[in-house]
Amino acid sequence: MPHGKKAGERCVQLLPDLRCALFGRPERPAFCASLRPSQEMCGADAAEATARLDALELATRPDPSPAPVFKLGPAAGQGGGRAP
Ligand code: SF4
Repeated sequence: MPHGKKAGERCVQLLPDLRCALFGRPERPAFCASLRPSQEMCGADAAEATARLDALELATRPDPSPAPVFKLGPAAGQGGGRAP
């Protein structure tokens, strides 16, 4: 995504099973490669992680208009997590 990812926008590299299509590849954004999961950020499961990331995106977005709601794919809750 050459212009970045807006708050609430699904990354084009996020696969239907919530894995990153660029994981382990040099073209993966440096921010993504440097991000380390933590209990504080991820919570206990994918639903909690999504809720916390949605709250962070809402709190840090520059545009005060309502953010779109991020929808998990059909694999949600099947061991997948939300990538940053
Ligand atoms: S880690 Fe997430 S945000 Fe970063 S490129 Fe992969 S799917 Fe996109």
